[in-house]
Amino acid sequence: MSYFSLRHISKDYAFQTAIQDFTLELEKGEMVAIVGESGSGKSSLLRIAAGLLEQTSGEVWLNEAQILNPAQKLVAGYDEIKLIHQDYQLFPSVSVEENINRPLLHFDPQYRKERINRLLSQFGLIQYKERLPRQLSGGQQQKVAIAQALAVEPEVLLLDEPFSHLDAIQKRKLILELKELLQELGCTVIFVTHDLDDALRLTDSVVILQKGKIVQKGNSRELCEHPKSRYVARLFSSINLIPDRFNSYIRPSDVKLRSKGGLLGHVVDKRFLVHYNTLMVRLKNGGDIWEIDDPARKYEIGDRVHLHFDEEKVLLLKQ
Ligand code: ADP
Ligand code: MG
Repeated sequence: MSYFSLRHISKDYAFQTAIQDFTLELEKGEMVAIVGESGSGKSSLLRIAAGLLEQTSGEVWLNEAQILNPAQKLVAGYDEIKLIHQDYQLFPSVSVEENINRPLLHFDPQYRKERINRLLSQFGLIQYKERLPRQLSGGQQQKVAIAQALAVEPEVLLLDEPFSHLDAIQKRKLILELKELLQELGCTVIFVTHDLDDALRLTDSVVILQKGKIVQKGNSRELCEHPKSRYVARLFSSINLIPDRFNSYIRPSDVKLRSKGGLLGHVVDKRFLVHYNTLMVRLKNGGDIWEIDDPARKYEIGDRVHLHFDEEKVLLLKQ
């Protein structure tokens, strides 16, 4: 039996179904990311997992005990399961140290002091402990929020797009730091996001959610090389539809530019990116625009190009 499990969870709201028969099993210390577009049911799922929202059907179990929903339990939620979201509120008028202390008020003072010092040190927050939340960067505030959530040593941490309002540099730094820390603490973690890149920075174990249903599960390589649908394929990169070949697609990085043969097109736009140029090429056959990587930065707008690809790189995808 798994440590933390969501079993056949469904959720219907008045006018729509948000989650359909969702099942996920986690071992202790496992980290899984759930990736899905906005509206795919991620937040509803995590709130159900935390015992904060009543499901229509299905069960949540932690360590052989059933998690009760707000209709079954007087005070909703559990100390063992902490949910952090983007707008997680810190207490604005007290220091970082005091914020982390708040959930610990009913513990013995000596334990409290040790616990706070340990968290401040683990999160690299010692030098900020006297500051108010507004005197910190967004990334630091979110770190304090996570330290606060971890103060009571929850078994399970649920992260609902907690990095969405951070800039890319802060976000990457925080995710890397957290990854190390959560592994060290042995936390069981579900991280939901619309951004596959963020998910893969934290864990290689990914569940893809579409309209409340699991459409595919796997590690990044399996999902990238063998996506089952356009929805999954497009989480990794844009894809180009091959003319006259129904449901066959090729990724920009799998198209080769040669001087003859293949599909004929001409470059209509060019962008300079860090590792390569990206070209927009209008195909002679059918007039579709393809996106293509040009790692040699060789082609200019107006150039004629001949496009080749290996058959084994072609993705056969349903809608
Ligand atoms: P996500 O977090 O992936 O954006 P949500 O779980 O917030 O998805 O929402 C899933 C679907 O359920 C959405 O279509 C949303 O409009 C709907 N929904 C969410 N909360 C409610 C609610 N309280 N009442 C009715 N519909 C809701
Ligand atoms: Mg959400």
